[in-house]
Amino acid sequence: MSKIAVVNAGSSSVKFAIFDAADEAPTMRLRGLIEGIGAAPRVNLFGAGGETLLREDVAPEGFDHAAATRTMMRVAAPWLDGKDIAVVGHRVVHGGGRFCAPVLATAAVVDELSQFVPLAPLHQPHNLAVIRALLAEHPQLPQVACFDTAFHASQPPLAQAFAIPRQYSQAGVRRYGFHGISYQYVARRLGAVAPGLAQARVIVAHLGNGASLCAMKEGKSVATTMGFSTVDGLMMGTRCGAIDAGVLLHLMDRYGLDARRLEDLIYRESGLLGISGISSDMRTLRASSAPQAKEAIALFVYRIQREIGSLAAALGGLDAIVFTAGIGENDAATRAEVAEGCAWLGVALDDAANREARTTVSSPQSQVAVLVIPTNEELEIAQSAWRLAAR
Ligand code: AMP
Repeated sequence: MSKIAVVNAGSSSVKFAIFDAADEAPTMRLRGLIEGIGAAPRVNLFGAGGETLLREDVAPEGFDHAAATRTMMRVAAPWLDGKDIAVVGHRVVHGGGRFCAPVLATAAVVDELSQFVPLAPLHQPHNLAVIRALLAEHPQLPQVACFDTAFHASQPPLAQAFAIPRQYSQAGVRRYGFHGISYQYVARRLGAVAPGLAQARVIVAHLGNGASLCAMKEGKSVATTMGFSTVDGLMMGTRCGAIDAGVLLHLMDRYGLDARRLEDLIYRESGLLGISGISSDMRTLRASSAPQAKEAIALFVYRIQREIGSLAAALGGLDAIVFTAGIGENDAATRAEVAEGCAWLGVALDDAANREARTTVSSPQSQVAVLVIPTNEELEIAQSAWRLAAR
């Protein structure tokens, strides 16, 4: 059976997965993680059931994203049943205003995508480095770029605008939105598990380490909480979410923080970690009796409740809320607390269904359906890549 590779490259890691190709539902065969790029690189390979297949330390000298890409191809090779990889699908964070659907990543497309590096400096260069490395070493291998921004291209202009002088908006400073691959997957699953809701007014809550909400009408994004960058909107594991821009000016003036220092503060030192001083991990905070852990969770939930109100306004009402990602899928307490603050919208949970994370967790009386749909961004990328390659 032909194989599909899915790659998600970060600043110090390359995550990948190998799927058996199939038109409707590719099946994951193995998963890999190359971590510690730039420090102490290590390769990990896991089977579909999570069992460790390989652990290997790699010499750090000269081990960059191109070397990690070669390593990925080398360690995956023995597991391909003698087949070649037919297509590689990549998670690419930014498609700018230009790319609103998966695209074949040719050298010319990669050059265009490099224009968006200034819009996503933490992710885009690494995403593109892996595509470039594969173009150089395997020029015949089709590669497909799938964008985190693409799903939100359907937002109306008002939802994308900042109230800043026009010259900056025209240069691309606007609300793009992210987590689009996850939202696309959940929108399709919603159509399968609750066909009656696929055309309705739905808020999807992607609550993981990164967190955002997306307001969907007829399965399309009409507004979302992340904006120009992945730091806006909800409070997250280590990101502050929406913050008064005046705070940043104050921190610069009063404490002499520059852009790089502020970047660390808002992306890596804030959120659940910043408030609790304990951890960015919801499981750890739920298990803690420290008041700071409770405060961090309370603000996390409050921000979600507030933003649900805002997105319900953008939708002109609300028919369903869908929870997904690490916290959304697994933390019944967060779902219950969020729902409690949405009672005014007619939201009511069935406690047992919520505890068991059934697909529908709302009570029969609830005016808003509440669902839990596990996301699967890798599968979404594998399917998109396979479809495009088949064409
Ligand atoms: P993600 O980025 O989607 O992998 O989600 C990571 C977040 O999900 C972390 O904050 C985890 O603590 C949280 N998470 C995963 N499993 C659970 C669980 N069983 N209960 C509470 N939180 C969880």
